Amino acid sequence: MPQSRFACFAIALPLHRVFDYRIASDESVVVGARYRLPFGNGVKTGILLDASDISELDPDRIKPVQERLDDAAVINEHMLSLARWMSDYYLQSLGEVVFQCLPGYLRGLRPHNPVRVKRWRLAKPDPDLIAGLKRRSPRQFEICDALSRHESGLTAIQLKQINPAWHTVVKALESRQLVQWEWMDQPVLEVPADDLPRLSPEQHDCLVELEPRMDRFAVHLLDGITGSGKTEIYLRLIQGRLALDLQVIYLVPEIGLTNQLIERVEQRFGECFAISHSGLTEFQRYRAWDRFRRGEVRIMLGTRSSLFSQCDRLGLIIIDEEHDQSYRQDDGVRYHARDVAIKRAQMLDIPIVLGSATPSLETIANCSRDTYFRYRLDRRPTRFAPPPIQLIDVRNSRFEFGCAGQTFTHIEQHLAQAGQVLIYLNRRGFAPIVMCHECGWQSLCQNCDARLTLHQSVKTLLCHHCGFAQAVPEVCPECGNTEIRHYGIGTEQLEQGLIQRYPDTTVLRIDRDVIASRAALKSRLKQLQTGQPCILIGTQMIAKGHDYPAITLSVILDADQALFSASYRASERLAQTLFQVSGRSGRGDREGEAIVQTRFADHPLMQALSQRDYRDIADDLLQERRLLGFPPYARVVIFRADAIELKAALARLEDIRAVLETARRFDALSCVGPMPALMTRRVGRYRAQLALISQDYQALRSVLQQSMPALEQLASSARVSWSIDVDPPDL
Ligand SMILES: [Zn+2]
Ligand SMILES: [Zn+2]
Repeated sequence: MPQSRFACFAIALPLHRVFDYRIASDESVVVGARYRLPFGNGVKTGILLDASDISELDPDRIKPVQERLDDAAVINEHMLSLARWMSDYYLQSLGEVVFQCLPGYLRGLRPHNPVRVKRWRLAKPDPDLIAGLKRRSPRQFEICDALSRHESGLTAIQLKQINPAWHTVVKALESRQLVQWEWMDQPVLEVPADDLPRLSPEQHDCLVELEPRMDRFAVHLLDGITGSGKTEIYLRLIQGRLALDLQVIYLVPEIGLTNQLIERVEQRFGECFAISHSGLTEFQRYRAWDRFRRGEVRIMLGTRSSLFSQCDRLGLIIIDEEHDQSYRQDDGVRYHARDVAIKRAQMLDIPIVLGSATPSLETIANCSRDTYFRYRLDRRPTRFAPPPIQLIDVRNSRFEFGCAGQTFTHIEQHLAQAGQVLIYLNRRGFAPIVMCHECGWQSLCQNCDARLTLHQSVKTLLCHHCGFAQAVPEVCPECGNTEIRHYGIGTEQLEQGLIQRYPDTTVLRIDRDVIASRAALKSRLKQLQTGQPCILIGTQMIAKGHDYPAITLSVILDADQALFSASYRASERLAQTLFQVSGRSGRGDREGEAIVQTRFADHPLMQALSQRDYRDIADDLLQERRLLGFPPYARVVIFRADAIELKAALARLEDIRAVLETARRFDALSCVGPMPALMTRRVGRYRAQLALISQDYQALRSVLQQSMPALEQLASSARVSWSIDVDPPDL
């Protein structure tokens, strides 16, 4: 029997361990490659982490691998180290984290066959010869003419735009040896030296400070008001990196990846970038990942998981709107892309740039560290500053579909002056409450502790948490009364009301119900781009990332809920939303206005929002967090359990607590729970939680490390499952 070697593998299972297999001595060992492994009665894909000649286990009991799937590693050493760090820091299974770092397309057994792209060029760039084609063969001339203007050649997609029947034409040109093709490797980088937008003095100064710090690890926060031109700074920094033959990862929030941004990047860097977001197919995302990995493109522009793009020469990571909640992944592997990106930059000793008009309190607090630099941008390159937030006191107002009389006056003023109006209402549907007027019955979800929202357009009551749907009842199911009423306003009702009130004005609604695809969003935003007066209604999808110079009024309806929220982050989020939404206004050559309807105009936070800037408010909120002992001045780890019965979920957390209590230094932590989660029942399961909070991070880590081996014995099952959430977005 030939001598074998032993290797351990990462497999995507929620188990905190690696798996040992045997590899025949004539089979090569490739760290970071995928192998097909026998597992139970089936097979699984595993990534080889490590190999050795001896095993602590009984060699006869170790199964041999079935097959190696990749010739070379699909995940490089650096990404494996990052995955190990993530697994350790976030207490997530190493196998799941390693597979998280791969594009979805490669997580199974699919082959990794890089698709190569052909590119056609002129074989003999002879102007006379081409001119000679003009009369004899206009179609051949057309293609040759285009090729003569693109020295690096054109791809099939580009040729198709010139002539849909390009293929036969090119075949003819090939047989005449006028045109030839080759595999495309790197597109030639064509960075236009001229025609760059002029920098404002502030942008210029910021770049002068930034540039010399680009050769090593540091976190750079661009703390710039809305519309201050942060994107132009990112683009200049990218240009500097590309000139050194380095690659760049540029992350934006899910909804921030607008066509406006893509067009801008394309205009600046031609074809040298790939895009990756959740609207693409798995194969498209894999292609983008592979092109970046091979260095065929130099910039990866994408959302959260694009952070895991690999390459040999990463020189910069940019995270735009760093405060955005979409950087946090809350299902599967739990992590925060900003925090992982900072770790990655540190491991590679490269710079990372964070940008926001409303930085998170975590990042602001971190600015006191040596490795952080903060740059302020307080002016817009355009004429007008962001408008101050005006409070509209609506305590004694009469409302029509959620808007008070004073609000209509503002809207009408701006429409009359040919401005565009943006109305922010973060509640989709027609009405959030459906109730019997007689007995007080309410339409509740049968799976969740939540109300059903009325969606009039489809005549349905919908749960926004689990998707449960039911027809709108004609009589009350409790008392038989026919007077069923709805209360509260959603975007659907607001849209209907505004269309009726302003029949001659275009009213656009942007929320998840009407925007099923990026194409739908694009077509709506196109209408905004025309600059014609219109009203735009939307949920958080419209709050950031958009730059439409004709918007002169931002209206925020119904912000009051946040003042009384149980979440310790509610004030921070309200401030971020209000400054972001108001910042959409007045970005062009006309001054903007921003108004907030409130019944609590005297509330200290509302007063602060209307009188002070975000930085001042953030400093106050940080003081408050320090006094209360909340993050970022404390670290939180939450154990979550869910089960078919609440009792079982609580019992599992009692077991967990019992394990934690035996650890040394447990007394240094405060342990809250087990207790039912805020929304106890969701999607048919009861949820409970146990929180560990501590200002002493070392003590917290120590307790967790001591407890993990025992905790791993508490396996999850369908009856009761549990998970760990490190740095959760909320308590
Ligand atoms: Zn009733
Ligand atoms: Zn539900």
